[in-house]
Amino acid sequence: MKGNERNGALQTIVHGKVGVKLWLLAIPGVDVLRPGICPVCGQAGCPTGGDLGIVGHGLRERQFRGPPGPGQVPRVVLLHIRRFLCKCGAVLAVVPCETIPRRLYTSSAVGWALALFGVQRLSAVEVRRQTSPSRIIGAGGITDWPTLRRWVQAIRAGTLLCGLRTSPSEFTARQAAERAALGLASLGPPPSCEASVATRAFQGAVLAMR
Ligand SMILES: [Zn+2]
Repeated sequence: MKGNERNGALQTIVHGKVGVKLWLLAIPGVDVLRPGICPVCGQAGCPTGGDLGIVGHGLRERQFRGPPGPGQVPRVVLLHIRRFLCKCGAVLAVVPCETIPRRLYTSSAVGWALALFGVQRLSAVEVRRQTSPSRIIGAGGITDWPTLRRWVQAIRAGTLLCGLRTSPSEFTARQAAERAALGLASLGPPPSCEASVATRAFQGAVLAMR
C-alpha cells in the first residue's frame, strides 16, 4: 500500500486478491474489491448495520506488461482498476495483486526476469526478449536492457519488492538478481515440485507485494 499524488488528490494503492489474468476476464465487482478497512483512517469498508464507509469511485485504465505466465509470450494488457472513496476523503485504487506502484511491469515479470538473469545467467538482451512486449529497442538496447538494470538497482535499494534480503555491496548485478530471484522463489510453490526457479520466482513475486 503506497500513496502517490495524481490529479492533485492523494491516491492510495491497495492490492486486491485478484490477479491480472482473472481481472482480464472480467473486472471484479465493487463488493469483491471493496477494501475491508481504509488504510488511511481505519474506517471499516462495510460496517455491520451501518452505511458503507468506503464507496465505489469509478474506474481508471492502467497498463500491465510482462508474460501472462512463466515462459509465455510477453504482452501488454489494459485493465480497468477500481477506485473507492472513503469517508475520510482518501481515494483508494484497488489493483491486481501483482501490481508494483508506479511501474508498468507486473511483479511476476520482474521475478521472472531476475531469475533468467541471475540464476539462468541469460544475457540482458535475451531476458528482455522473454519479458518485454516491446519490440522497439532504444539506444544501447542491442547489448543491454536498461529496464533490467534499473530493477536490479531498485532491488539493491529495497524499493521494488517486499520481504527480500539485501545484497552485500560487493555483489555483482547478477549476484544481486540471483539472491532476489531465490528469495522470490522461496515465496512460490515448494521446491519439491517440478517448477524451475524462474517459474517459482514468477509465482512467488505476487506475494512480494503484500
Ligand atoms: Zn479513510
